[in-house]
Parts: sequence; C-alpha cells; structure tokens
Amino acid sequence: TETLHIVGGGMAGSEAAWVAARAGLDVVIHEMRPRVATFAHQTGKLAEMVCSNSFRSDDSEQNAVGLLHWEMRAAGSLTMEAADTHRLPAGGALAVDREAFSQFVNDRLRGLPNVTVVDEEIAALPGEGHWIFATGPLTSEALGRAIIAETGAERLAFFDAIAPIVYAESIDMSVAWAQSRYDKGETEDERRAYLNCPMDKAQYEAFIDALLAAEKTEFHDGETASYFDGCLPIEVMAERGRETLRHGPMKPVGLTNAHKPDEKAHAVVQLRRDNALGTLYNIVGFQTKMKYGAQAEVFRMIPGLESASFARLGGIHRNTFMNSPTLLDAEMRLKSKPNIRFAGQVTGVEGYVESAAMGLLAGRLAVAEITGRSLPPVPPTTAVGALVSHITGGAEAKTFQPMNVNFGLFPPVEGLKAGRRGRRDRYKAYTDRAKADWQGWLAAGV
Ligand code: FAD
Repeated sequence: TETLHIVGGGMAGSEAAWVAARAGLDVVIHEMRPRVATFAHQTGKLAEMVCSNSFRSDDSEQNAVGLLHWEMRAAGSLTMEAADTHRLPAGGALAVDREAFSQFVNDRLRGLPNVTVVDEEIAALPGEGHWIFATGPLTSEALGRAIIAETGAERLAFFDAIAPIVYAESIDMSVAWAQSRYDKGETEDERRAYLNCPMDKAQYEAFIDALLAAEKTEFHDGETASYFDGCLPIEVMAERGRETLRHGPMKPVGLTNAHKPDEKAHAVVQLRRDNALGTLYNIVGFQTKMKYGAQAEVFRMIPGLESASFARLGGIHRNTFMNSPTLLDAEMRLKSKPNIRFAGQVTGVEGYVESAAMGLLAGRLAVAEITGRSLPPVPPTTAVGALVSHITGGAEAKTFQPMNVNFGLFPPVEGLKAGRRGRRDRYKAYTDRAKADWQGWLAAGV
C-alpha cells in the first residue's frame, strides 16, 4: 500500500489521517509537539483545542457551521464523533470536554495498525511522495521559511488583519451608493465593487467617541504583535488623533453621494466586494481588536449599516496562512508542487470546525488520487464545497484574509425573498440543498 504523510496532527491533520487510514492507506503523522512547542498548545496530544472548547452552533438548518457539523457527521468524521461523545451541555452550541475530546482522537488514531505518529518537525516541502501539510496558525518558523522560499514572501502572512464582513443584502442602499474613489477601475464592474456610507460631522464625532470607549481584546501571552503601518486597528488610529481616520480609511474625497449629490460628506466608510458572488462586502481598512459585541454596536452606527448582519467580525491574531487563491488548485494541491496538499487553518480558513472539515476533504482527495479513482468536484452548494471554493478561487486574492464558514459563501438560491424577513426560509433552502448535494457527492466518492 502507498503511504500518505501528514504534517501536523492538529484539527485538520487528525481528520485527514482518519479518512486515509480508514480507506486502507498507510498513514504517517509527523507532529512536532511536544519536542517543539507553540505558544498556544499545552500538550503533546493530537487534536488539541488551543482556546475555547466550543464548536459553535449545532443547528444544521439555520447556521452554516451547524451545517458543516452535519456534513462531517455524514462523512464519518472522527472530529465529530469525538465531539458528540464528549459533548457538554451548552444550549444550541456544541461544546466539548477538551481533554476527553483530544484523548478520544489520540486513542482512535494510535489504535489503528496503519497509522504511525512520528515526533518530529518537518522543515522542508518534499518533492516526492504524497503529503498533506496541516501545520496550522502556528506553523513552525523553519517550515514557514521553506514555504516562503517556495511561494514568495508576500504569499505567506504571519498575522491576520481581518476587517468585518457584511452581508450585501443587509446594507441599506437607500443610504449607501456604489462608486470607486475617483471612479477608478477599468470596467463598470470594478467601479461598482465599492459601496460608500456617508457621515456628517456629528455622526463622525459620535463614531470616534464610540471607538475610543469600546471594549478591546488583548493579545494572548506570547502572541506579541508589532502593528505594521497600513494594518493598524481603527481604534488605535482614533487614539492617535480624532481626525486620523478622516484622513485615512474614512476620507471623503473622490466620492459623490448618489442620493444627495449636493451634500459633501464629512467622512465616508467604504466597503469592498469580498467574493466573486457579490454576497459579501468588507469594511475597508477596519481591522480591529474591539470585542465582538462592541463591534456590532459601533459598526451599526454607520449610516447604511444600521441593520447590518455580519458574516464575520474583525480581528487581528497571530496566524500563519497562505494566499490560497493564488497558490492552491481546486483540489488543494500546491500548484508548484502538486504532490503536496495543504489543509486547515494555514490555507486561510478560520476555526476548529472549518479546519477539521478541510482536513476531511484533503484526506478524501488524497485517497482518490492515490488509489486512482476520480472524484467529482465537491459541490459549491455544500458547506465544505463553499469553503474550499472560496479559498481556492472565489475569494479576492489581493485582500485575502482567513474566513469562517457562512451563508454568504454559498451560491444564492433563486426565487426567495431577500432581506432579513426572508432569512429563515433562505437558510433552510441553503441547508436542504447542501444536504442533498453532499449526500450525492459522498455516494459518488471514496
Ligand atoms: P492546529 O490545530 O494548530 O494543528 C497544527 C499542528 O501542526 C500542531 O499540532 C503543530 O504542533 C503542528 N506543526 C506546526 N508546524 C509543524 C512542523 N513544521 N512539523 C510538524 N508539525 C508541525 N479556533 C477556534 O475555533 N476557536 C478558538 O477559540 C480558537 N482560539 C485560538 C487561539 C489561538 C491563540 C490561536 C493561535 C488559534 C485559535 N483558533 C481558534 C484557531 C485554531 O488554532 C484553529 O481553529 C485550529 O486549531 C486549526 O486547526 P489546524 O489543524 O489547522 O491547526
């Protein structure tokens, strides 16, 4: 039998190993802990949850991450079996006993005769053999250097600087308007890739006050960040001076309010289209360390965003991730070294569940390739498919930042009511379609 090498026995690597071992391949997991530590991991165990003990919502009808749980369970996921076995009471969320969870994954994987766990750091990208690299947000330094040598320095980031992402349908277009600054852009489509929200002086001053007063999160110990200019949190910009934002990301120049052409805005918040589908917009330059609750409150002060729904809120974290839209093909292979797949958080997904799901998919794709079977492409209408389509193609490569699963990544279901009122029906339609398509895909595969 052929051997599949997996680097990193975290959330993604453990799931990939399970898929491949159960399909009969020999699997070697190369895991550097406990020999080499990270600032966040505490143990030498596989599938350690480094922070919260929650897999978030378990609602597979109204929530995209709940749908991801459902799809993973349907595929026989080890992560989900471990989570379900060691579930803690937590309302609609799937919270787990982290030690028992990790122990369960360890026992299962180490109990398989065709799985070997080797305690070593891998610091190069091999040119031969079948490999999945799932080294996570804290990929070791030496391996980071090897990835940069292969891909170029600008293709690997060590911090994320995430601006909040808003669902397009929740933006009030009777207030906002589409226009690029100075009408820049070759095509009409490029010029309409930006939306603008105007503020008068009083609104701007109130907004600055709210930014300064908002509760902020701290960096974890050992996670020290040096902010590079161009990536400062907006509240830090506001601290540097009340006018700083108005001369930075909120400058009003080069824009004319389509609804009130004679009024000059005091400041303008710009949003930029975040995916090819046009369902998501990020707030340009609004990376932030404000707490999530505070963010939603402060950003809804922006005219046009009073009823905004957020696909994800902003953040800045220590996080190694690659520019997957340019580096990986649709089957998660490194274009320049197709014997290597990447999976998990290092590919620019965010979260335990998303990372494990990408491990599951990478495992299935590797098994199909090694055993000479062909798999149909995973439908983009499923949660797994929507995520992988986003990171390997749908996302804007230039501004690529890590992504949680959310319904904005799904191709819209036609003929349903837009806006907040239609939301329950729409989400149900997304999840019904996803479940049917996922089952179809599983039936066609390994
Ligand atoms: P990991 O689970 O980190 O696994 C990667 C593995 O690769 C590690 O075991 C590491 O030791 C190993 N490794 C790295 N480099 C090498 C190498 N060169 N050779 C061999 N092995 C190597 N997500 C959430 O959903 N909820 C949270 O609350 C949360 N909090 C977080 C807090 C912090 C401080 C950080 C850094 C991340 C947090 N995340 C959280 C994100 C979380 O890390 C991911 O969701 C998840 O662990 C990613 O899974 P992964 O398999 O990609 O990476």
